[in-house]
Amino acid sequence: MKTIHIKKQNSSIFVGESYLNVKNHLPEKKCILICDENIYQHYSEFINQFDYIIMGCGEGNKNWQTIEKIIDQLLEKGADRNTFLLGMGGGLVSDVTGFVASIFMRGLEFGFISTSLLSQVDASVGGKNGVNFGKLKNMIGIFNPPKFVICDPVLLQTLPKREVRSGFGEVIKHAFIKDEQLYHFLKENKDALLNLDSELMEDLVFRAVSIKTEVVEGDPFEKGERKKLNFGHTIGHAIENNSDLTHGEAISVGMILAAELSVEMCNLNSADSEKISSLLTDFELPLNHNVSAETINQYLIKDKKKNRSTIDFILLKKIGEASIVTIPIDELKTKVIGLCAKPKTAQ
Ligand SMILES: [Zn+2]
Repeated sequence: MKTIHIKKQNSSIFVGESYLNVKNHLPEKKCILICDENIYQHYSEFINQFDYIIMGCGEGNKNWQTIEKIIDQLLEKGADRNTFLLGMGGGLVSDVTGFVASIFMRGLEFGFISTSLLSQVDASVGGKNGVNFGKLKNMIGIFNPPKFVICDPVLLQTLPKREVRSGFGEVIKHAFIKDEQLYHFLKENKDALLNLDSELMEDLVFRAVSIKTEVVEGDPFEKGERKKLNFGHTIGHAIENNSDLTHGEAISVGMILAAELSVEMCNLNSADSEKISSLLTDFELPLNHNVSAETINQYLIKDKKKNRSTIDFILLKKIGEASIVTIPIDELKTKVIGLCAKPKTAQ
């Protein structure tokens, strides 16, 4: 097991720790576990040891009604300010658990057992949590880090293949923005990684979490450096919201478009741009989408990351180095039309 401690947030991430050891990390107080229906089906024997609350699966449940239902059940179960909430699941469960824990009786301690690749490398690090508001993603929420996150590679074995690929999309992003060596590691080990070789997966999750931790430590409230983690996400979120693509798949397409823009605006050389599409293809991630430029542009205007008439857009100077570029929203809209007109192919 490898431990990453985020000092400023007093939060620990245990990579390679068995979820069965979670009791060693829980404080001595009442604990209520929150999971979704899927996780309960797979791990009911483990979950039955706890007092638990089950929420619905899927992004459609990431809303205010779910928060109300969970608060109702917490009250029924006699939760008070001294209760610990343990989220077990992927990004949805950690977003919801972290948010409920942050607002219930002005805040409870909480931790996660992270069960998806996406949440192990992304959602559970950095203390962002919250729910959607109508069609707007993550509109209500708060920055508040968990006490701990357990990332057990064993849990990844039960994931559907598509969800695993989605998680790789996020890992690949970390390589592109911050770590050229991670790019080579992914390229060299793609087959073993796609087969979820547990030693390599532990290594991979550790590297991705370390990158995210380093960025988040330097910028806990997303004022500067941390914005780089949004590489591929500005257009990616627009596509995710208007298609059937998963988060990682939509981010893959978003990164392709951002890479093309980087060639145009940030001197990314075209060999690097080709490497980007080739690595995403290696991990069976899509390069194309069927959302119209108009739909994407409408979404960009509503996106919370927009700052008056400009958007801070993340571009690449090269593989392993990102740059924050402020683009006027009208200019970006024109670029989106151009980007969407050309189909993408891997070299
Ligand atoms: Zn993401």
